[in-house]
Amino acid sequence: MDFSYTKEQKMFEDAVKEFAKKEIIPVCLDFEDDPDGKLAHSVITKAAQAEILGLVVPEQYGGGGGRGIEANIALETLAYGDVGISCAIGASWWGQTALLMKGAQELKDEWFPKLASKDEAHLICMALTEPSGGTDVEDPAMGFKTLQTIATIEGDEVVLNGRKMWPSNFDVASLYVVGCTVDPEKGEEGSLLLAVPAGTKGLSTGKNERKMGHHADRNGEIIFDNVRVPKQNMIGKVGEGVKILDRTLIYNRVGPASMAIGAARRAYDLALEFAKSRIVGGYPLYKHELASAMLFDMQTKIHISRLLWQRAAWVNMTTKGNIHYAHMAKVFATDSAMEIATNAVELMGSYGYSKEYPTEKIMRDVKIIQIYIGSNEMIRAHAWRYM
Ligand SMILES: Cc1cc2nc3c(=O)[nH]c(=O)nc-3n(C[C@H](O)[C@H](O)[C@H](O)COP(=O)(O)OP(=O)(O)OC[C@H]3O[C@@H](n4cnc5c(N)ncnc54)[C@H](O)[C@@H]3O)c2cc1C
Repeated sequence: MDFSYTKEQKMFEDAVKEFAKKEIIPVCLDFEDDPDGKLAHSVITKAAQAEILGLVVPEQYGGGGGRGIEANIALETLAYGDVGISCAIGASWWGQTALLMKGAQELKDEWFPKLASKDEAHLICMALTEPSGGTDVEDPAMGFKTLQTIATIEGDEVVLNGRKMWPSNFDVASLYVVGCTVDPEKGEEGSLLLAVPAGTKGLSTGKNERKMGHHADRNGEIIFDNVRVPKQNMIGKVGEGVKILDRTLIYNRVGPASMAIGAARRAYDLALEFAKSRIVGGYPLYKHELASAMLFDMQTKIHISRLLWQRAAWVNMTTKGNIHYAHMAKVFATDSAMEIATNAVELMGSYGYSKEYPTEKIMRDVKIIQIYIGSNEMIRAHAWRYM
């Protein structure tokens, strides 16, 4: 058994580490005060130039041809710098999975070279959640029955009407992959994923919502008002939306696990550094038994979480299993990261709670990873389906 990365994967990890150290960590606190997203956009553009953004685009379109392991190495390493940046990139890769799996050749030929561009950043917005709810959309048993974004086929065109709420990259994406239905009463049979380019007439966006964390990721309302696209923009056929989404989730639910680990590692490193230099009761804090035990548990949970995402990514690449592994990784890693970030704040006392260190920011950033791309409650409640 070999737990190490290949030489190429290690080189790639080092390159992303260097990128995070140089381009993300120095500005990570400034994302909190970047309402128009200019700073986040400049960092994501640099990620495109550094060939990170195009990592999972197939090589034939000029991308890096990376697979699950490389994608998750990147997401973990980027999240060490800032979880919001990692989320914006990871959400775009989620949309790419659907396009790659079932997009028409014309769509792939048009979009993958852009997504691999080293000159400018092109992101996908995976638009599923609606003002009325997100969990039900990601629950395959609900079969898109609750969706209120309606696609009507008229000749060679699809006309889209409805609203989405919260998707990552909501007002900066070049392409929207939209979960919709031709008729909610038809359930899965009416389900559809549709590609809508930014700038299409009738597509508009609301304000960037203010949030607890994840400031480098932009989230808000998207309105589709009689938006018309050619039928070739359908990703798969009517009736395949639920299944395609489910397949994309199998690959991409590992992402939040690796992002959570990146954030947890940073919180742990900050707490350890602090606890080594902080003198309490006459000697360094980290040598006090309770502090040592806390740090040990943090470290252990980080390693278990990483083993789980690696296992899940391996399952995805070899298809020797199902989404159960990605679910275990997502739930364990995100719950652990929440605990680790909270304990890091605790260990650092008032310094942990202050804005002087990014520890309190990490605690706020991590909370939503437990909720998005399948809330941990929903995943746990439905786990019996895979047992
Ligand atoms: C930073 C950020 C990034 C996001 N990115 C995207 C994106 O890229 N694309 C997109 O479409 N959406 C995105 N979202 C939205 C996110 O995915 C949804 O908020 C999430 O799916 C939950 O949906 P909801 O908020 O409507 O809560 P609801 O679905 O209304 O759920 C409310 C509560 O009920 C709980 N719950 C649900 N089912 C069960 C159950 N079976 N048992 C017990 N409790 C349950 C949930 O856990 C939750 O706590 C993002 C949100 C944020 C803040």
